[in-house]
Amino acid sequence: MTEKKKIWLSSPHMGGTEQKYVKDAFDSNWIAPLGPNVDGFEDDLCKFTGIKHAAALSSGTGALHLALIHFGVKAGDVVLCQSMTFSASANPIVYQGAVPVFIDSEADTWNMSPKFLEQAIRDSLDGKLKVDGKLLPGKKPKAIVPVHLYGMPARMDEIMALAEKYDIPVIEDAAESLGSLYHGKHTGTIGKMGILSFNGNKIITTSGGGALLSDDGEIIEYARFLATQARDTAPHYQHSQIGYNYRMSNVLAGIGRGQMEVLGQRVAKHREIFESYRNFFAEKAKMGYELAFQEEEPGMFSNRWLSTLLIDPMNNKGITRETLRLALAKDNIESRPLWKPMHLQPVFSKYPFLGNGVAQHLFDHGLCLPSGSNLVEDDFERIFKVLVKIFS
Ligand SMILES: *Cc1c(COP(=O)(O)O)cnc(C)c1O
Repeated sequence: MTEKKKIWLSSPHMGGTEQKYVKDAFDSNWIAPLGPNVDGFEDDLCKFTGIKHAAALSSGTGALHLALIHFGVKAGDVVLCQSMTFSASANPIVYQGAVPVFIDSEADTWNMSPKFLEQAIRDSLDGKLKVDGKLLPGKKPKAIVPVHLYGMPARMDEIMALAEKYDIPVIEDAAESLGSLYHGKHTGTIGKMGILSFNGNKIITTSGGGALLSDDGEIIEYARFLATQARDTAPHYQHSQIGYNYRMSNVLAGIGRGQMEVLGQRVAKHREIFESYRNFFAEKAKMGYELAFQEEEPGMFSNRWLSTLLIDPMNNKGITRETLRLALAKDNIESRPLWKPMHLQPVFSKYPFLGNGVAQHLFDHGLCLPSGSNLVEDDFERIFKVLVKIFS
């Protein structure tokens, strides 16, 4: 018996014009980490998000690394980071030898809790944070990294108010939230800097890539300089600081230009997919099931990159997220537990964490459902058939 076609969580979905831009790159021989597609893609990102400046880079991780370098994050410095996220939000902090301090989520958006953020700032100032059992000297954190998880905006009003009160810059990790809005502003444009990712599974992709956003032109100029090996102006190769090779290829930026033409459609489709799951489970509430979702509040607009839900067996007749995940897997349908929080990761376990168990609860009971904009009617028939069977 042949296996049924695999249904992926979120797979690349080309719009159709990408190859035209890639062909332009070949025809003009701009096969380099600079060129007209890179410039064009940066312009497209600025126009779409309303940010003044953008640098197209080789990854979102690289973008965050450059942002931390810009703020002078060095060995022993403290950077406050959302715990409930993908490891790429925290890795660059450790690249710099700095100390990531992980902040719990709050229950509605699943993003950084302003309450624990403030406690972390105070504990850092007062010298109350410990790494490996040893107290850190009291110091002001160098940056705050909130994440807009699965597209849902974090509570930016509260986070920005704390950032201002204590004078700490915010770097928004908007890797998953291109197209999401917070009180009319695009996520990634609210803090001092924002980062985007165009990895293969994100809402649009360049196969791999990222961008750094800021309204401050000098920041973006400096990021471009660092991203191209920090070459001083001279006829020979001259360097007065350490550089990186983080620029985006002009070939891949061509894919990005094509993808930007369909980004609006992609967001609409992802939101429609989320609505169909939510409507399904709203019906199931009448049968005594009670599932929870990331909830938009007034002023929040999520791109719903991934549709996610919580299945607490206490409210669902003993059904767990593993019951559903395994049933889907049996039908060759991919689903995945939510990100495992950073403070629970072996590699980060020695670093401080402030919270009260929300991220842990999300990890224990949360599941990401297939959310690709390229899924077809047949795919959804298969998915909902499994859902109906489990929640009967
Ligand atoms: C994907 C992702 C990143 C990293 O982006 P890359 O382009 O893969 O380096 C960072 N943060 C979050 C939350 C992500 O999901």
